[in-house]
Amino acid sequence: MATLHYKSDEEIEIIRESGYILGKTHGELAKLIAPGVKTIELDRVAYQFILDNGGTPSFKGFNGFPYTLCISVNEQVVHGFPSEYVLKEGDIISVDCGVKYKGYHSDSAYTYPVGNVHSDVQHLLDVTKQSLYLGIEQAITGNRIGDIGYAIQSFVESEGFSVVRELVGHGLGKHLHEKPEVPNYGAKGKGLKLENNLVIAIEPMINLGKKSVMQEKDGWTIRTADRSPSAHFEHTVAIKKGKPEVLTTFQYIEEVLKNKK
Ligand code: MG
Ligand code: MG
Repeated sequence: MATLHYKSDEEIEIIRESGYILGKTHGELAKLIAPGVKTIELDRVAYQFILDNGGTPSFKGFNGFPYTLCISVNEQVVHGFPSEYVLKEGDIISVDCGVKYKGYHSDSAYTYPVGNVHSDVQHLLDVTKQSLYLGIEQAITGNRIGDIGYAIQSFVESEGFSVVRELVGHGLGKHLHEKPEVPNYGAKGKGLKLENNLVIAIEPMINLGKKSVMQEKDGWTIRTADRSPSAHFEHTVAIKKGKPEVLTTFQYIEEVLKNKK
C-alpha cells in the first residue's frame, strides 16, 4: 500500500473528473442489470465505456486482477470475477469499479437487487448504503479514522448485521490503494487524525449473517464463511474545508433505478 499523500486542490479536481466518468459507467451498468444477464457482459460494457470516455480501468492488471469490474453475487463479498453466471431473480450483485483518469484513480461500488429480493436482503442493502453515508458524515477535520468505522459499525450492528474485518477502505490518488486504511469498524477518537485534502475510499462490506469471510480457490473472490448474503457500497471522498465532499456519484445509477420501478 502506497504511502499517505495529501492532495492538492488541483489533484482533487482531477479525481472528481475521474469519479464523474466512474459514476457514468455505473449508470450504464445499472441499465443492464436484470434477470437473464451474464455478469461478463457487464464487464465488456464497462471496459469500453471507460475507454470511450478517456479513462482506463483501474482494476484490470492491478496485482494481476483480470477484469474491469469486481462482480460479487449473493454470498460473495468483494473481488469476484465477472463470468458466464446468469443473474436470476432474487440475487444481489455488487459491482465495484475503478477509473484512472489523467493519472488519478477513483473507486466506487454499488450493490443491486436483481428483480425482487427477500425483504431481509433488501434491508441489508438499505442499511449498508445508509452506513456508507453515516461513515462519510464523520469524515471531517478534527475527527479520526476510528470515528468513521465506529459510525458504520454501531449502526450496522444495531440492525443485526455484521461488519467484515479483513477488508477495509483506503486512501487513493496516483495509486489505487494508499494509506491510510479505513476500517468499517473501530473506536471513536482512535486512529489517524483527519486533515483537509485527504482523499479516501469509504466502503462498508456488510454481512447478513456472521462476520467471518474466506477466500475462494481462484485466489481473489471473498465470500462469507456462512454463505449468508453480503452487500458493499463505496464512494471516494475528499475532506475539503473541514467537510466531506463525495467525488464519485450514484446519481446516474439512481436515475436508472427510479425509471425501472
Ligand atoms: Mg472499490
Ligand atoms: Mg476501494
